[in-house]
Amino acid sequence: MIDPQLNLSPDDEHNTELVANVHPPEWRNPTPQGRYNLVVLGAGTAGLVAAAGAAGMGAKVALIERQLMGGDCLNVGCVPSKAVIRSAHAAHDLLTADRFGVRAGGEVEVDFAAVMERMRHIRAGISPNDSAKRFAETYGIDIYFGAARFVGRDTVEVDGTTLRFAKAVIATGARATVPPVPGLAEAGFLTNHNVFNLTEQPRRLAVVGGGPIGAELSQTFARLGTEVTIIERADQFLQREDRDAAEILKASMERDGGGVRLSTSLERVDMVGDDKVLVLKTADGEEKGLSVDTYEVEMADVDRAITDGDTEGFLKVHCKKGTDTILGATIVARRAGEMISEITTAMVGGMGLGSFSGVIHPYPTQTEVIRRAADAYNRTKLTPTTAKILKKWFSWTR
Ligand SMILES: Cc1cc2nc3c(=O)[nH]c(=O)nc-3n(C[C@H](O)[C@H](O)[C@H](O)COP(=O)(O)OP(=O)(O)OC[C@H]3O[C@@H](n4cnc5c(N)ncnc54)[C@H](O)[C@@H]3O)c2cc1C
Repeated sequence: MIDPQLNLSPDDEHNTELVANVHPPEWRNPTPQGRYNLVVLGAGTAGLVAAAGAAGMGAKVALIERQLMGGDCLNVGCVPSKAVIRSAHAAHDLLTADRFGVRAGGEVEVDFAAVMERMRHIRAGISPNDSAKRFAETYGIDIYFGAARFVGRDTVEVDGTTLRFAKAVIATGARATVPPVPGLAEAGFLTNHNVFNLTEQPRRLAVVGGGPIGAELSQTFARLGTEVTIIERADQFLQREDRDAAEILKASMERDGGGVRLSTSLERVDMVGDDKVLVLKTADGEEKGLSVDTYEVEMADVDRAITDGDTEGFLKVHCKKGTDTILGATIVARRAGEMISEITTAMVGGMGLGSFSGVIHPYPTQTEVIRRAADAYNRTKLTPTTAKILKKWFSWTR
């Protein structure tokens, strides 16, 4: 039986496999042999990388995890969300197949329990990467399960055992903030820590917060057939993104049946019979401009986007004024997550936007949009004087 403290359900073969890897029930914490070079608190993404990096260089390392190794990303974040998103994509593709001349025939039915079981199967399949066995045997790290607490300048205690260390890394992650809304605790709510335990589809879902995690979960549930409403205090959905990118994604959310309530805060939750009734308050907003040069290309101008019927969206690259130094970029497109790496690689490598003009992008691919933004930048270099000189030069060399 899965330990109830792990907050993982249902108690099925997939979750049992997951736990066997990332919090093995039979695990016995080692007995410390002298002082550690490094003690890492928390075995999420950050803790695993820190521990493996130090151990790889020969340090004697202890890694302490109170719940599940892999942390949020493996257990209640990146992995389960992307697995469920894949099912939502499949449902959406079927529902919209007729725009490609394909008739799916009959009703599109989502088997929510099967969607969640597929997610659990995938999560368990990936879990050996973050497992206690792998980190103990491959990296020689001492793995301790239990809640760690500092008991001295160079000592930490876990499950009654004291560990001494030269250095410690605190990688204990973050938790969803529960807003102090009257009635919310009594009514009950989901966070990323229990939403992936669901086996029955919620009929209606209110999502408090329209940031990236709220947005992706909302669209996923909407595409799977849940009636979703996002409540966002700011006057913009995805408030850290460009306003026009956010507008496109909001419209896409709404097409999928999701409602977005902006400049709205959750004031109170009342119970009326078995129903949770949300009392909302709407206010006025104001989310600011920065002085940069921005190069924008519509996906509708990219051949691959046209052939794939994915013309909604754009690329915007923001450069330091008067230069091609990339400060940031926004991509709204299908598979934007894959495309953005080209920009981040350039930023890390100090490559200017203009250089993309010389990069061969296979035709037809969506990433051609980046080359077109580079062309747009390079055209700005063509001042009237340069254009005159070039015209003369071409006439001489004809
Ligand atoms: C729904 C969702 C989707 C996401 N999707 C993506 C994505 O697609 N791509 C992406 O890059 N990021 C994504 N993220 C973000 C990603 O999950 C986090 O950035 C990442 O997990 C942070 O890693 P971390 O190691 O800092 O913390 P965590 O993963 O939170 O790990 C911290 C660990 O410390 C342990 N711990 C805490 N206190 C103690 C203690 N006292 N003693 C011992 N152990 C302790 C916890 O149990 C936990 O395992 C997503 C997040 C969510 C919620």
